[in-house]
Amino acid sequence: MRVLEKAPAKINLSLDVLHKRPDGFHEVEMVMTMVDLADRLEMKELPRDTIMISSQAGYIPLDEKNLAFQAARLVKDRYGVQKGVYIHLDKKIPVAAGLAGGSSDAAATLRGLNRLWGLGMSVEEMKALGSELGSDVPFCVTGGTAIARGRGEQLTPIASPPACWVVLAKLPLNVSTADVYGKLRAAEIKRHPDTAGLLSAIEAQDFGGICSSLGNVLEEVTLSLYPEVKRLRDCMERLGADGVLMSGSGPTVFGLVEKESKAERIYNGLRGFCKDVFAVRLLT
Ligand code: ATP
Repeated sequence: MRVLEKAPAKINLSLDVLHKRPDGFHEVEMVMTMVDLADRLEMKELPRDTIMISSQAGYIPLDEKNLAFQAARLVKDRYGVQKGVYIHLDKKIPVAAGLAGGSSDAAATLRGLNRLWGLGMSVEEMKALGSELGSDVPFCVTGGTAIARGRGEQLTPIASPPACWVVLAKLPLNVSTADVYGKLRAAEIKRHPDTAGLLSAIEAQDFGGICSSLGNVLEEVTLSLYPEVKRLRDCMERLGADGVLMSGSGPTVFGLVEKESKAERIYNGLRGFCKDVFAVRLLT
């Protein structure tokens, strides 16, 4: 018995930090959606009580540090599953990029094992398990487009933006999410994103309005730490993307583009700038 699952990448159309909470976490408000750039997971049952991970990507952990491993262990513990599983991760999403690749793999593992072992978990149960693994995992269980609040785990689904192209570019930098949040001074943020404006534009399916209300408070931190990301962002704007933003804590920068021909032009223009460039559709 084997199951296949796709694990798409997430992008933030907005990311706001409202304040730092007494428990040390940041209270966030973000609009997240998914793009058609995905890892592929293959899961096969093993008769022995073990979890094995393999991947063609040489740069991710294959032991208990892997989020797919952690998801499998959580499911096995919680449901008392004695059998084992072999998970192959075909990585396409750049790692530590602000695209929630690991979280999406964990969510895909929850969905896949639910089917493989016939556990009958509801979406809500999978989201609850996911929240034990990381703040972005519950969103990745269902995908779509949603507003996330709290630590990112309180989700309200909303309509998807109108269909468009997304050009993503990532420089070969390792940006630590914890480091970026650590350097953010929540009380001193000068410009918060216009989340209300973004939500109205999405509701009205107003592509121009969506592009002009994109915003991410972490951009200032990452761009000042890595001026090359700022240059990449400027380059994406110069090439004519309709809206440009950094996703999550970066360093991936994405551009929303209405027309395919323009997306192709931007993709070709950025290829000389960095190796990891993708032109994909928004998952609507
Ligand atoms: P987020 O946007 O949720 O902050 P990210 O895109 O910045 O996530 P990931 O690609 O999820 O970051 O990787 C973050 C770290 O998690 C890396 O250091 C990586 O080694 C580790 N990791 C664990 N499991 C995985 C996985 N299945 N795929 C990718 N990275 C993983």
